[in-house]
Amino acid sequence: MNAAAPVVDRSALTLAVTGTVVMPGDADYDATRTVWNAMVDRKPAAIVRCAGEADVVAALRFARERGLPISVRGGGHHIAGTSVCDGGLMIDLSTLKGVRVDAVARRAVVEPGALLADVDAATLAHGLATPLGINSTTGVAGLTLGGGFGWLSRLHGLTIDNLVAARIVGADGVVRRASADEHPDLFWAIRGGGGNFGIVTAFTFALHPIAAEVLAGLLVFPMDRCREILRAYRAFAERAPDALNVWVVLRKAPPLPFLPPEVHGQAVVVLPLFYAGDPGSGESHLDLLRAFGPRLGEHVGPVPYGAWQQAFDPLLAAGARNYWKSHNFTGLSDGAIEALAGYAGRLPSDHSEIFVALLGGAASRVPTSATAYAGRDARLVVNVHARWEDAAGDDACISWAREFYRASAPFASGGAYVNFMTGDEASRVPAAYGENYARLVDLKRRFDPDNVFRTNQNIAP
Ligand SMILES: Cc1cc2nc3c(=O)[nH]c(=O)nc-3n(C[C@H](O)[C@H](O)[C@H](O)COP(=O)(O)OP(=O)(O)OC[C@H]3O[C@@H](n4cnc5c(N)ncnc54)[C@H](O)[C@@H]3O)c2cc1C
Repeated sequence: MNAAAPVVDRSALTLAVTGTVVMPGDADYDATRTVWNAMVDRKPAAIVRCAGEADVVAALRFARERGLPISVRGGGHHIAGTSVCDGGLMIDLSTLKGVRVDAVARRAVVEPGALLADVDAATLAHGLATPLGINSTTGVAGLTLGGGFGWLSRLHGLTIDNLVAARIVGADGVVRRASADEHPDLFWAIRGGGGNFGIVTAFTFALHPIAAEVLAGLLVFPMDRCREILRAYRAFAERAPDALNVWVVLRKAPPLPFLPPEVHGQAVVVLPLFYAGDPGSGESHLDLLRAFGPRLGEHVGPVPYGAWQQAFDPLLAAGARNYWKSHNFTGLSDGAIEALAGYAGRLPSDHSEIFVALLGGAASRVPTSATAYAGRDARLVVNVHARWEDAAGDDACISWAREFYRASAPFASGGAYVNFMTGDEASRVPAAYGENYARLVDLKRRFDPDNVFRTNQNIAP
């Protein structure tokens, strides 16, 4: 914290809330302010670990009365580390992890600190699921407010397409319920508009039946055939049914037991496959992928959906340094394939990767104007994910990501996913919201004219 940072009156804050107050010097201060991306090292003046919605209201009022900036923490996964602020009040929701499932109505009410794993565990107990992301330690709150996509999104839409209602603490301290019928403008804005419009204290999601096991796994190909495989993937993806999702990951092979030891550490093309239909009928799709050519290894079969949702967790654990750059694509042009293959051929660290996430299907059948999220035309979201351990690698890794971003830009749609944007991309926010940006600015003026909620991918009022 710099010398000018405000000093918070601990006893006043402790009296104002039921939850725990954590301040600089406390034993758990560093652990509480630490987020997923180790590049982020911000020092709030105080942290409130909220015990419930009343604490959110009280903490917000406390900060506003004293002119303190605030940040809101769900799962702490945003690449830009916006859940933690320097010298302000961090409103930490991460202890609020409750998930209540109504299996008959097929609804789940989720508290704002829940991680994807918490939601999956509660809903899968009833054979139900809602589309979430691919790393189970991600926070539901931030993921949802930016849009949210994962393996089920081609079949059931984005996470926001399954959001039925939310409770929100506004900048004025008033708690509102937003849904299609209640405060519909606010409901529109929070479905993609991030944390710009208030602090969500409960999300109600629609749930869908899911089979006990899905067909899922990895096919691994040599990097020297990257261009060929990407061209075959392009044709394959165009014909894929909604229940099928296959991404591309270009990276160095982790020491997975199904890969021969000599492949470990070699640059490879990985196709993670997920099929939510009957595993038996998924075999024909698998055969089409096998026809891409000789594989270095393959590990595909029926797996519990909950296990697949956690399959990538070991590769994405917290604590590493990370820098991302991302583009939306309406399709994979030859130029895009050339950029992908070129930069995958010179990965700057063992854990860096470029991934191509497949959208389309139900996620693209929602009109762009229906929610704040504007990337409905994005069939593919490409994220270049530089990841390394030591600060000495900062320059090489960050430059690689930026250079790939520049080289691939001419082939991209111009849109972007706010949940993948780093802290230095504030100027990209209008483009990320495209035709929805003007309405978002109007609503920001209405719901948060003082820009209280500004530690985020900010929509300035
Ligand atoms: C390893 C990894 C894998 C990922 N995979 C996917 C994926 O498969 N699909 C996908 O869509 N995204 C994915 N993401 C991106 C993810 O959606 C964002 O990082 C998202 O911000 C995570 O939510 P969080 O609650 O953990 O974020 P936090 O960092 O806690 O919060 C981010 C921002 O969200 C806002 N916010 C959080 N909680 C609230 C709340 N209750 N009310 C109001 N505002 C709030 C705040 O502005 C905050 O600054 C991934 C991220 C990582 C690091």
